[in-house]
Amino acid sequence: MTSSTLLRGALVWDGLADAAEAGQEVLVTDGRIVAVGPGIEAPPGTDVVDLAGHTLTPGFMDCHTHVAVSPDITSAMSSSGAATALRSLPVLETLLRNGFTTIRDLAAGDPHYATIDLRNAIDAGLVAGPRMLVAPHLLSARGGHGDFSGLLADHYQPLNRAMELAAADGPDEIRTRVRQEIRAGADWIKFGATGGFSSPSDDPEQITYTQEEMSVLVETARDLGRPVTPHCYGDEGVRRAVKAGVRSIEHGNLASADSLKMIEDAGVFLVPTQYTVVNDAQMAFDAEHWKRKPRFEQEKFQKHQSAILSGAEHLAASEVKIAFGTDAGMFPHADNWREFPAMVSHGISELRALKAATSVAAEMLGLDNLGVIAEGRIADLIAMPGNPLTDIEATGRVDFVMKDGIVHRRPDAESGVPA
Ligand SMILES: [Zn+2]
Repeated sequence: MTSSTLLRGALVWDGLADAAEAGQEVLVTDGRIVAVGPGIEAPPGTDVVDLAGHTLTPGFMDCHTHVAVSPDITSAMSSSGAATALRSLPVLETLLRNGFTTIRDLAAGDPHYATIDLRNAIDAGLVAGPRMLVAPHLLSARGGHGDFSGLLADHYQPLNRAMELAAADGPDEIRTRVRQEIRAGADWIKFGATGGFSSPSDDPEQITYTQEEMSVLVETARDLGRPVTPHCYGDEGVRRAVKAGVRSIEHGNLASADSLKMIEDAGVFLVPTQYTVVNDAQMAFDAEHWKRKPRFEQEKFQKHQSAILSGAEHLAASEVKIAFGTDAGMFPHADNWREFPAMVSHGISELRALKAATSVAAEMLGLDNLGVIAEGRIADLIAMPGNPLTDIEATGRVDFVMKDGIVHRRPDAESGVPA
């Protein structure tokens, strides 16, 4: 039995154009967009959804989430795999309801592969959630960004099993870890190229892998058909990662204008996670903001504040391919849409921010059937009252969500009576 849905009355922004267009309708049949245009004649039995006053866009993609992590539970380290997965279900539901129909999850911090299981459960229709692309762990040098051993007292160290899957030093161990991740079902490989802000024993400017180590890592993943993205802040880390052949870079907030140019020239995507990183830099000297966080983290933001703020200016002025990603999990997942207004407040245009979460994200993720509203594409479509191209805050008001042609949310006032 075929099932069709006609979406009408909305402005339509296709993920590419400079503006949203009025008078367009979109017909979806069996999960695919089959027609886009004015006055579409719908087959009998079509579910007609009136989206007057809304803008219809491709489903949003958050290319940097941690669905198994939340600010109150800083680590899934000591949970069972089932507990980690179950705890993530409301997160997945929230993301989908808010219009995020695809996510790339970049490490669960668990000793299992819970995010792989979640991805598979969603694909099999067992649970509702965004389609997921997964890097299960952050491969890290010992003492690097993925090594939280420094936060644990000696008698807790044996519990730190997640490190057994993630710690990798030197080419041989790096090859082993990459292959283990892929054996378990990884879509992407993530690694720590530099230190970070939340990790206890490094600095975001320090480089935690040699050029040889990064190159071996990327090469091993490439041989097995997997793209690589590093957690990476400082300049030299960015340059080594680009030389190694990564597909994208996470954060990059300390990159100089020269390094951003290198990223741009290499066609590497950047996921700048500005809502959390630039915000923390702006608040670096605000005691209230840091009340619940470790002292070392605040000190790092104080030290790097000016570099982060000027880095945001350089990025806005660059032509780097920006993909939308938030690091949600480090803050409440329901707030991940706030990356949109954060980007705009740091000089990135509304159009560039929205492309980052749709057509550009799809390009980075290699999802040719998604990210654009056009005939033949998979019907991941969302709508929000207002127009995000002129009012970016509209991205926080999504009230229509369709994924794979299935309506997961419709506007309250909309009856959904079949035509
Ligand atoms: Zn992250």
